[in-house]
Amino acid sequence: MSIAKVEPLTTARALRGPFDYRLPARLGEVGVGTVLLVPFGSRRLLGVVVELAERSALAPERLAEPIEALEAGAPPELIRLGLWVAREYCSTAARGLELVLPPGTGSARGQTRARSESVVEATAAAIDAPEAGLGPRQRRALELLGTSGGELRAADLAAEGIGRDALLRLERRGLVTLGEREVRRRPVAARVGAPADRVSLGAEQRAAVERIVAGLDGGGAELLLHGVTGSGKTEVYLAAAEAVLERGRGAIVLVPEIGMTPQAVARFSSRFGDRIAVLHSRLGAGERRDEWQRLRRGEARICVGPRSAAFAPIAGLGLIVCDEEHDASYKQESDPRYDAREVARWRAADSGAVLVLGSATPRPESWLEHERLELPRRVDGRSLPDVEVIDMRARDGREGPLHARTRAALSALGEDGGKGIVLINRRGWSTHLSCRECGRAWQCPACDVSLVLHRVSGLHCHHCGHSEPAPASCPDCGSMTVARTGAGSERIEELIAEAVAPQPVFRLDADSAARKGGHLEILREFEAAPSGVLVGTQMVAKGHDFPDVVLGVVLDADATLRFPDFRAEERTFALVAQLAGRSGRGERGGRVLVQTLAPGAAAIRHAAEHDAAGFLAGEIERRRELRYPPFSHLIRIELTGAEADRVQAAAAGLRAALDATLPGGARALGPAPRFRLRGRERRQVLVKANERAPAVAAVREAVDAAARSRRLRDLSVSIDVDAQ
Ligand code: ADP
Ligand code: ZN
Ligand code: ZN
Repeated sequence: MSIAKVEPLTTARALRGPFDYRLPARLGEVGVGTVLLVPFGSRRLLGVVVELAERSALAPERLAEPIEALEAGAPPELIRLGLWVAREYCSTAARGLELVLPPGTGSARGQTRARSESVVEATAAAIDAPEAGLGPRQRRALELLGTSGGELRAADLAAEGIGRDALLRLERRGLVTLGEREVRRRPVAARVGAPADRVSLGAEQRAAVERIVAGLDGGGAELLLHGVTGSGKTEVYLAAAEAVLERGRGAIVLVPEIGMTPQAVARFSSRFGDRIAVLHSRLGAGERRDEWQRLRRGEARICVGPRSAAFAPIAGLGLIVCDEEHDASYKQESDPRYDAREVARWRAADSGAVLVLGSATPRPESWLEHERLELPRRVDGRSLPDVEVIDMRARDGREGPLHARTRAALSALGEDGGKGIVLINRRGWSTHLSCRECGRAWQCPACDVSLVLHRVSGLHCHHCGHSEPAPASCPDCGSMTVARTGAGSERIEELIAEAVAPQPVFRLDADSAARKGGHLEILREFEAAPSGVLVGTQMVAKGHDFPDVVLGVVLDADATLRFPDFRAEERTFALVAQLAGRSGRGERGGRVLVQTLAPGAAAIRHAAEHDAAGFLAGEIERRRELRYPPFSHLIRIELTGAEADRVQAAAAGLRAALDATLPGGARALGPAPRFRLRGRERRQVLVKANERAPAVAAVREAVDAAARSRRLRDLSVSIDVDAQ
């Protein structure tokens, strides 16, 4: 008897699959990865076959039969990957498997079938068919078919007044065949920045490609490609991908956020054309499904996309690239909270492929763990711009957020025609409102955070979306003097517009991007303008390449340093160094100004010297001393609920359970309060462990046990392994 072990696609944590089902012959071929509709208690559920077996621990008469087998399914190696993700990130099998199934499986949207259209094809008999006996529409149809290569869409003929009836009559005479053809919805790749011509690689690029190809032919490798922006990393990926295709294998190229990296996508598309598929969440459901199927069928062999593309169905994988590997968006921030870089690493190892992590500002863990390939110079031979650190401590608050030197540099832009980019990592007009009389602060009613004032739309909570009108007076004391502090991107935009007038200023942040049809449009406008300044949040430091940018400015460079987070240093370094790398790519060279309250901070000093190696050496030592990752593993468990007491009690219970079960070298900390969000109270328990796998297993056990005992009733729990 054949038994299928099936994981039901339901996310209840307390439910432990897989469950055994008896496979009747009528279902046809069922293998690992087949999706089945199965009876489950009184319900019917979709489930995925994760294993086939000869017998079950249950008696045959107690086993149910699946109702039907669906067409959708995923190859066995992807099933293994999905289950690995579920285990590794303390999620459920269903959530892990959903990542690897064809887009939309099981959801209402999954019912999007391939879109098809009717096509009309002339047969050989049509070539010299006698016109006698044919009506005028039939004659016209044959004529049109004759002049268009023998095939037309029925819709095109209908537009000429030739309807279905005429076509059916032609078909009966054997002069045409009518058929359906699947229409592929091809996502269009947008283009911003310098175009991509084929280049001949420099010595260092060649060495890097050779090392990658050696890995390709030698069963795999894990490599870190370290090179400043403009050092030619993308050309290395392209050449490596070519070598992969020559060997009949496939590749995945991961980019941080698809919208942020249009150039990378466009360059891959223009080099590889139809062999590229693009997968990302902004595609329509049908487009996603089509691209997935093209990869699954092997029509496309390279997948470009953000983190979810790590699950692309590519057989014979030879290469996985993670471009800008330092980027935080590789971490998924909802369950399963996987890290696409780790997924890529697992897949590369599993399929004997080469993993290439590329960055100008690599993470400490990559620096430590992988063989390094260096591209030390910009391709254009230009040196990196001079970076000047401006100490903002000894300043009078009334001078405003722009230092006099910054203002002067911006004003000078107009004279020689170069462009500028200004980074301010805060949205809105001002980030804090307070009453000058009584000290009242404007806070979100649902979250413990300040409301941010926006120029036209009033006060907003950046965490939950709550908004209210800007106050005319203080509701507590009636005072009319409300202080606005903390300049955000809108305020900075205005200050810069004053400094550079009549040059145009373009603001790029989540608000302007949402309004103006995407940030690509804003980047395009900035690119097309003969001069001007791009102002915005960290979006301005990513992925683009404008040769005429001669000035880069970072405002409040230490803002990210003030986060209570062990990655604060690493993030600050990356942000400042990345922005510095965007300046001076053209003939005029460049200059970068960094305003900060912490001019002595290692992250800022090293970024100013474009010294990643120096920064990383110090940072790795700091992490070693404090036993932070990669010298330990952090697992964050967060409980949320309506009542603080219940959340606290459940978190304390979890902590106690962990104290009893965590292996040696691991300990639990907390529960610690986290700020209230969307009206929900939050508590966090943190596990710090020397060894990852046993600690993850202990956390999974503890949380599952709590879920089964209903102690987590009405609470939600999120587990973040390798929390960022
Ligand atoms: P990165 O990905 O490191 O930022 P790119 O690969 O985008 O660098 O290269 C920057 C620019 O230099 C691109 O316009 C690219 O086409 C060009 N380029 C890269 N390698 C070479 C080369 N060997 N010769 C000439 N131009 C090159
Ligand atoms: Zn007041
Ligand atoms: Zn809020």
